Amino acid sequence: MSAFIEVDNLTFDYIKQDGTSLQAVSGISFRVERGSFTAIIGQNGSGKSTLAKNINALLVPTSGRVLVDGLDTADPASLWEVRRRVAMVFQNPDNQIVSSIVEDDIAFGPENLGVDPAEIRQRVRFALQDVEMEEYRKKAPHLLSGGQKQRIAIAGAVAMQPECIVFDEPTAMLDPRGRSEVLKVIERLHDKGITTILITHFMEEAARADHVIVMNDGRLEMDGTPREIFSQHQRLKELSLDVPAPVYLAQLLRERGIDLPQIDTEDELVRCLCQLQ
Ligand code: ADP
Ligand code: MG
Repeated sequence: MSAFIEVDNLTFDYIKQDGTSLQAVSGISFRVERGSFTAIIGQNGSGKSTLAKNINALLVPTSGRVLVDGLDTADPASLWEVRRRVAMVFQNPDNQIVSSIVEDDIAFGPENLGVDPAEIRQRVRFALQDVEMEEYRKKAPHLLSGGQKQRIAIAGAVAMQPECIVFDEPTAMLDPRGRSEVLKVIERLHDKGITTILITHFMEEAARADHVIVMNDGRLEMDGTPREIFSQHQRLKELSLDVPAPVYLAQLLRERGIDLPQIDTEDELVRCLCQLQ
């Protein structure tokens, strides 16, 4: 099966104002299967956002190649086809809201694509259902909470009917409640078949993915399942990254002689501890 996204030896250099260049992404390769859930973790400045922007052709490779559904992002003729397939949701919901009424905001993207008005109304209705914000459709976005605003931004992406959504630290500015609401929406969209790429610095969020990529200083440092990645405590520590709390707790309990299998999630830890009695 061919991958939905193929990143092949991607390097990206920013040209700074003084004319010097800065290599933000250095020779990375990986694949994203259609319908999969990939998490990208790594310290600030490790190149995650630059990588994300190369996936939906906001940036094009300095060298190497990115293919989306077989389309080369560097081919100007493919630009809109790539953007139609891959939507992005950014960290700050305030920067993504363009209208003073929720439903107009969600309609903005499809309007720009020239979608028929009757179809736009339908897409807006479904997108509002997906993010559980139907009753807010006539409200002013600036009056909503951070988590609600982010869900509206996500609905705007959904209304474009992309095959893939890249979420660039969508929960970083939210309180715990907003964070869990947004994560729930992301998981629901993935369950509905959207290829999901989630950049996050919350390890518990990354643990929900089926594939984790670890970036460090522009390079792809680790690539595997959450279990493969999060069992490497020492290596993650060297990269100044944590492991998810339940994985860490299970490790401490094992060191105290409690017989526990590999743990990935809170639910598993609770289940295993209850069975020990
Ligand atoms: P992350 O998302 O992991 O924090 P970024 O992709 O934003 O990392 O940044 C990677 C590197 O590229 C950092 O050193 C950052 O300072 C630099 N960088 C990001 N955006 C620009 C830009 N527009 N111009 C120049 N350098 C940039
Ligand atoms: Mg970033």
